Amino acid sequence: MKKIIIGNFKMNSTVSEFKSYAMSLATKTKGTKNTVVVCPPYTHLTTAKEFLSGSKVFVGAQNIADAESGAYTGEISAKMVKDAGANYVIIGHSDRRNKFKETDKLINRKIKTALANGLKVVLCVGESLQTRMEKQEAAFVRKQIDDDLKGIYENELESVVIAYEPIWAISTNRTEKTKAITARDINKMIEIIRKEIEAQYSQKASKNITILYGGSVNLNNYKKILGNENVDGAIIGGACLDVDNFAMIARETY
Ligand code: PEP
Repeated sequence: MKKIIIGNFKMNSTVSEFKSYAMSLATKTKGTKNTVVVCPPYTHLTTAKEFLSGSKVFVGAQNIADAESGAYTGEISAKMVKDAGANYVIIGHSDRRNKFKETDKLINRKIKTALANGLKVVLCVGESLQTRMEKQEAAFVRKQIDDDLKGIYENELESVVIAYEPIWAISTNRTEKTKAITARDINKMIEIIRKEIEAQYSQKASKNITILYGGSVNLNNYKKILGNENVDGAIIGGACLDVDNFAMIARETY
């Protein structure tokens, strides 16, 4: 089965370091049947486009502004990232929701702007450890889906991928006490998300929507996580920084 494998570089690497990464990734992913997307920082997008064009790897941005243009010092628009070479954009990552206080309303506007500019959206949702301990994770994720996709038409969902990323399972948030997520936990939430899409849209939309998992996917667990037929792919943070590791996960037949 063809999967989507997305690398989230976060705020790592310089442009020159990324140049050799991109060249290497292009070579190492030759022949993969999966859709591979790498999301470097904004400053690396044109380099990514240059060194990945003609390869199997698509380029994504990690964020965009909700506005189209104007007096928004320090912001980068959807049109700009598209022009720089991005086909995808990650929206609603928990780093942005928590560290930059992005609300569902803002995320909803960003999704609309991204779609209007022809970008494919990777919408990240997922609960905190506290929410899970209170057994509120289903209600929490359902509300994120409802609020983030408000006003998005069913036909636009073709350009939206949902990534379930429980905040507590992301490698940089884990502590020694955090248990590894189980296939049961992942399947349960994927089913909740599909049901919510069915409730808000239709059975067809629910069947067709692409749902990824993200949170500490690495060389030790990727076969098991991506071998799960309910998981359409993965978003990978820490483990994508090593080109050999990322390419190995991206090359695998699932
Ligand atoms: C992420 O932060 O998007 C992520 C999936 O990170 P990691 O793979 O390092 O848990």
